[in-house]
Amino acid sequence: MWLLNGKNKNVMNQLDIAKFGGTSVADYAAMTACVKVVTANPNTRLVVVSACAGVTNILVELASGALDKTAALQRIDKLRAIHQEIIAHLAPEKQAPCNEHLEEHLTEIRNLAAEASMGRSDELTDRLVCHGELLSSYLIVEVFKQQGFKAEFFDVRRVMRTDSTFGCAKPLVEVLGTQSKEQLLPLLNTDAIIVTQGFIGANSEGMTTTLGRGGSDYSAALLGEACNAATISIWTDVPGVYTTDPRLVPHAQPIDELTYLEAAEMATFGAKILHPSTLVPAVRRNIPVFVGSSKEPEKGGTWVKPETETHPSFRAVALRKNQTLIVLASPKMVGASGFLARVFAIFAKYGKSVDLVSTSEVSIAVTLDAGSNTSGIPSISEDMLNELRTFCHVKVEDKLSLVAIIGNEMSKTAGITTQAFDAIAKYAVRMICYGASNHNLCFLLNEADAVPALVELHQHLLENKA
Ligand code: ADP
Ligand code: ASP
Ligand code: MG
Repeated sequence: MWLLNGKNKNVMNQLDIAKFGGTSVADYAAMTACVKVVTANPNTRLVVVSACAGVTNILVELASGALDKTAALQRIDKLRAIHQEIIAHLAPEKQAPCNEHLEEHLTEIRNLAAEASMGRSDELTDRLVCHGELLSSYLIVEVFKQQGFKAEFFDVRRVMRTDSTFGCAKPLVEVLGTQSKEQLLPLLNTDAIIVTQGFIGANSEGMTTTLGRGGSDYSAALLGEACNAATISIWTDVPGVYTTDPRLVPHAQPIDELTYLEAAEMATFGAKILHPSTLVPAVRRNIPVFVGSSKEPEKGGTWVKPETETHPSFRAVALRKNQTLIVLASPKMVGASGFLARVFAIFAKYGKSVDLVSTSEVSIAVTLDAGSNTSGIPSISEDMLNELRTFCHVKVEDKLSLVAIIGNEMSKTAGITTQAFDAIAKYAVRMICYGASNHNLCFLLNEADAVPALVELHQHLLENKA
């Protein structure tokens, strides 16, 4: 075990925050790999973890209230098995207290699931799903100790203040900063590695909230900003950010370095490796973000930073599923001012952000994301559509996907669109967006065409060029 000594101040100047995703903490072996990664870097003082792989999905199912009692108990048994596998590897004297702790969480989960079966809510969902991160963080502390390192559990809800939008809460960055200075920073100066939870937070009344699915990356970046970290490391199941999802395109290539802008565009347009908001706090404080594999740290990874040496026209392609297209038509739009303002005011009222927009003389088409709310329930409400229907004709189309090309100086480079259109010539394109940013060109396609189109785009624009 290494202890802080005269280097103490130095370490705090170079503070690294390491976030481990679900597969990185899936079981005892995976957690052991995390311990190796953390202890190899003396600057890593704060560890942020997701729930063990599969756990949040089960908790979301239980929170939906849709399972009958037998199915709910089966899910709880599965949760028990996932966590017991880790406990079984701990020293014999640790196993009884850990199992007791696990059972306390499972009892609470069972009670909350029973409550959900009488009526679900986003508030209840957050209260239930937080147990995933609370359990994984509790257990990985024991794994650190088992391997001979000092580690301490820290409940992130002490500092991660959010508003009360359960299921998709907005962090209150100033409160997070002050709370972290008071409660978290002093702990990072001790000789223990501090382990905390991603994804979860609390509102001003202390009620548990969540940042939306995949939100642990965002938590790590927010904590990095609050603690003035020098680096934020996102450890996951692939050795860095690739030219596209390597699960969809086996020829995808790892990218050594990316600008904040490129990475943010990739995340926004569906590269699941980073939660779309992750880069926001990093950019505010100019903190470089590293992405690598906790199982294969020797393979290196991607550095996301303000500037990079190369600025290729085509950097990556990304896919975002579950897009809904809303076409709003009103004869009154002809020559009428204020129509768009009225439409956008309604989207704002319902908290919907618009991704793509296209207008004609009498209509406007927009795409909305079905949402990354923790409950998984699509958040395009009938109330919102009814409000729109009071002044225009509304047509909703779903089963669509967004395929985006991410690059640099795209609108200033001749031939970009020809290359892209040639690559997907055989697919019907429902909508195109280009021009608002120099960094992307997006196509809306039928769900069934999206992956083949992504493969074609990757092959034509990126293979042998990355
Ligand atoms: P974690 O649980 O560690 O947060 P995620 O499943 O959320 O991991 O994100 C990692 C996954 O992101 C990878 O396994 C990969 O399938 C997917 N992915 C999507 N786009 C990319 C990309 N451009 N580069 C690398 N991985 C990507
Ligand atoms: N456990 C949460 C999820 O599965 C948060 C995360 O993994 O980032 O969405
Ligand atoms: Mg993730």
